[in-house]
Order: sequence, then C-alpha cells, then structure tokens
Amino acid sequence: MSITWKKSCTEMIHGVCPLCGADDKNNIYNTENFTGAAREVVQTVIVMCNQCGFVYTDPKPSFSKIKDFYEFDPHSSGHVYHDRKKGSLFEKVATKRGEYILRHSIPKNGRFFDIGCGKGDLLIWLKMNSNLELIGLDPSNEVFEIENDFGIEVIHSTFEHADLSSNFGKVDAISLTSVLEHVYDPVQLLKKIKSILKPDGFLFIEVPDITKARPALVEAFDYEHLSHFTIASLQDILHKVGMNIHDIDKHALTEGRIRICAVSSQRLTTFDAISGYKSEILRDIRGYEQKKRAIEKAFVSRIKPYFEKWKELHSRVAIYGAGEHTYYMLRLIDMSDFVCCVIDSDKKKYGKKFMKWPIYGPAHIDTLNLDAILISSHAFEEEIYESIKHFQTKGLDIITCYSQHN
Ligand SMILES: [Zn+2]
Repeated sequence: MSITWKKSCTEMIHGVCPLCGADDKNNIYNTENFTGAAREVVQTVIVMCNQCGFVYTDPKPSFSKIKDFYEFDPHSSGHVYHDRKKGSLFEKVATKRGEYILRHSIPKNGRFFDIGCGKGDLLIWLKMNSNLELIGLDPSNEVFEIENDFGIEVIHSTFEHADLSSNFGKVDAISLTSVLEHVYDPVQLLKKIKSILKPDGFLFIEVPDITKARPALVEAFDYEHLSHFTIASLQDILHKVGMNIHDIDKHALTEGRIRICAVSSQRLTTFDAISGYKSEILRDIRGYEQKKRAIEKAFVSRIKPYFEKWKELHSRVAIYGAGEHTYYMLRLIDMSDFVCCVIDSDKKKYGKKFMKWPIYGPAHIDTLNLDAILISSHAFEEEIYESIKHFQTKGLDIITCYSQHN
C-alpha cells in the first residue's frame, strides 16, 4: 500500500516586505513543505524585495494556521533526538552560545532574558557557568520542566502576547535564538525588545544564514520560517529600530548560522563588514538547490540495493526519526512495503502513530524483531548511530542517509 499525500488546505496570505513595506518582489525559490496532522503538502515561495533586497516567504500561512501549527502539530520545532549530557550536540551548542554571551561585558549579577528558550539548554548552561539572574520565555509547555527541574524563572507565552508591563523592569541582556525568522512582524518584535533592554544592554540574535543554507533531504527553507536573513539584512532591520550589530560570532558563520551581538545605535560599534547582498543571495540559493538535488540522487541510488534485499526477504524495517526529515525521505522513496514501525527518543511520542506506523522508543528495539533500522535525521545522524550501533552485532542492519557506515 503506497503513501498518499494530501494537498494543503492551509490558508495563505500575501503581504508586503516586512522590512521596508514595499509590495514589489520576485520569486527566488520554490519548494514544498509538510504541515498539519495529515501532513499536507504546502507550496512555499521565497521572494526577494526589489526595493531593499529583504528575503521572505510570500504568501505566508495565515496567523491562525501558524498558531495552530505551533500549538497542535507534534512535528513543529520538534527534535527526534534530545540529549543534554556532556559531549552531546545540544550540550556543545549551548556551550558555544553561552561562551559567546559571557565574552561580552554583561554585569556579573545582571538580568538575562532568553526569549524563545525552548527546552532551556542555554539557560541551564548559564545557570551552571555564571551568576546571571535568569528568566526564560516560551509558548511551549516545556518551560515548566525548566522551572521545576532547574529552578529558573519562566514565562509561559509568546513574546508578542507576553505582558511585560512596568513591574517586569529592564534587563541587561536578551537572547533571541531561532526566533526572529518565525515571527510575522520582526520589526515590531525588535521594538518591543528594545523597550525592555537597558540603554547599555546587549541583544544576542541567532538566525539561519540563507547564504549558507545546508542542503539535506529535509528542506532548509521550511514552513515555519517567514523571514530569511543575511548579515546585511539583519543589520538593516536592526537599524530600523535604532540598533546596530556590535559583533559577529565568526565560528557560527562556518556552521550556517548568524550569531551576533547588537547594541543601541548610540553606542560605538566595532562592526563594519557587511555581506549577503542581492546577487550573492541569488547565487548562493542556486548553489543550495543544486547540492540538494545531488544529495537526493545519491541517497536514492545508495538505498536502492537495500530496498531490493528487504523486499525479497520480507524484512521488518524501522525508521529512526518521527519528524520532518522522514516526510521528505518518504516523498523521495515509498517504503510502505517493509517499514513496520518508527523509533524516536521523544517519550511524548510513544504509543502514538507516525503516519500509519506505531512509534516506539530505542529501549524497545530488542523486542521488535527487526532486520534493519534506517536513521532518518541530518543533524543527529552520528549521535543516533553511536547510540544504537551495538545492535549490528545482533545481526541488525543500520543504515544512515548521509555518512557511510555500511
Ligand atoms: Zn523591502
């Protein structure tokens, strides 16, 4: 039985440039995303403003649709793998972010506000490595775990709807990691941020760098991202609210991320290098598209011999990863004939279904009578492989999408 993909009924709305307000744009990239419980296929169009060069999604999903997506879609901002222990990817990323923040002269006992703190990796790292007074904000229910398990003050809300009236006071530093690209009106958001930041405060922003989008089976230009930044456009948007880039984390740039520290424009900044203008953006997006097609082709030709073997032997195969990546993989190749279940390390998914398959935890692998596991993740492929490779000695094939272990 093959997989059927539904066409989207997501309401899409045309808008003007979030940076300059002009309604004058060109399509620069078309792709498909998946959304909703039924995983509808949504056409996504990325445009560039002909006036200011800002890159954004147009049309955008309607506000109520995207709100539903974050509230009810188990796949939104979900990770198939979350491990905080030393040496894990999350611990390494939190360390890099934390060390970058502490490099700036924030007062020792200053107030630090993490907007969009998610599972709290950065706050937890800062709690162990600084004396900062910490506050987190996130609309997901995970913030209660940070409060209960680590005693960190949290606000359960979106930032746009958070009541930060006078008794909230001002803060010495704000972190905005993987947030700005998601919001409807980034200029309004930055204005509100500036209003709670002390005049000599620091704003740390991290967004994906569209000039260095990482090609994989999963789409880098995804449904949740409404604005797409370069260093230049981030600087432009900060200027709009009277702020300036003060410093760029050069290390993050090598990983396809823009991580910067911004300050009020009245203060002197050391930053002067700007890159990522129109022609560069177009060139980089074309390059991304070509590499993505090549990766898809290589994956299909590498996985084919396994398919033939699994079909012939009526094998029982599990996919590791009940997330976005798997939809993109299944769209390339229909695996309905031999996949029997999905494995994921997120306990909240156990007992539920991913498409038509039941979801189990890695602890169940021994009891599932499997012949093979196909790891479906880009960022966590190596970590997942390391955690289950011992099953190979029991005769299980473990197949990865990118690196060659087999
Ligand atoms: Zn514009």
